[in-house]
Amino acid sequence: MKTLAIICLLLSQTLYAQTYDHLDTALSYYQLDPSHLHGKEADLSNVEEQFNQGRMQIYRLKKGHVLKIEQAEYLKPIAADGWKVIAPEINNSTTEVNPKIMTVINELNVTNVRGHLEYFTGQTSRRSGAPGNQESTTYIEKFLGELGYEMTRDCFSPGLCNIWGTLRGNVDEYVLIEAHLDSVGRAYAGADDNGSGAAGLLELARVLKSVDKKRGLIIFATNGEESGLLGAKDFVWKARDNGLLNKIKYVINMDMIGYNKNGIVDIETNREFEDLAKWKSALANTYTTLKPEITMPAWGSDHVPFLQYKVPSILTIEHWKTKTPCYHRECDKIDTINFEYMMEILKLNVAASMEKMVETK
Ligand SMILES: [Zn+2]
Repeated sequence: MKTLAIICLLLSQTLYAQTYDHLDTALSYYQLDPSHLHGKEADLSNVEEQFNQGRMQIYRLKKGHVLKIEQAEYLKPIAADGWKVIAPEINNSTTEVNPKIMTVINELNVTNVRGHLEYFTGQTSRRSGAPGNQESTTYIEKFLGELGYEMTRDCFSPGLCNIWGTLRGNVDEYVLIEAHLDSVGRAYAGADDNGSGAAGLLELARVLKSVDKKRGLIIFATNGEESGLLGAKDFVWKARDNGLLNKIKYVINMDMIGYNKNGIVDIETNREFEDLAKWKSALANTYTTLKPEITMPAWGSDHVPFLQYKVPSILTIEHWKTKTPCYHRECDKIDTINFEYMMEILKLNVAASMEKMVETK
């Protein structure tokens, strides 16, 4: 009996090892998504780095190891061919200059942007549901309403509201520009993440309100991004059910557009929209001084819920490898913001949204 038990034990261990080896080769690549670490260090003791460029950090399980439960928070499984980064040196194509776009670009005003950012960082906290979060929502509602946008406030949780303004075009289709208005809640902070995107959003709303358009424009201040993309997910689910999602033909997400080290802007989407990212890079080379780096797939911000439903969506974000050292910290203050760089990203998004608003296909 004893011998039989030992044989059974050895056999089960062999079977386990075989199964395990299979898992190890098939499911062993992981993408680091640090968005919910909130300052904690990621445990990378059982994985080794495979690729580290731009926003993409890919790890592989070390042989004989398994992923720990808590690591699933920040190490997301990815296919062996699931990622690609195209360096700025390679993204050197340009496009023809459209004088109408140049006119609108020249209307962008840095004083307005600074004013909005001072308002947002003047709040004690813009954490989901905090009074400063609710006041910022009202500030955006009032600003867009006065510009003539048709406003919708949708509170998906008590005290936590999405806010968006709509301008209709000649066809029942839309270009949507989004930025999250919430922060992680550091006092008088969240300047770069994401006061910068929210302030830029309002300036884009101002300069784009009277441009020629076939498609309409939706200016969307999302909420609860830092708590798990809550507002964007809620919007996408409701838009899927009421039919709006099918009418949204292009999404621009601005999240962290204010800190600059080297002039690189990360242009992020999923691999199925690689051509769209290349098109956007050409616009960057034509209308701005930015150096575009394409990074795929998307993770960690409000473009992701749209991409899950195959809506063509692009995130514009500061170069992640040299991102603000104050990310999610108390020191994410307005004095770290490079307004000149931020305005270049706004120019890029003026060009992209204007092109997509008159597109006929
Ligand atoms: Zn953010």
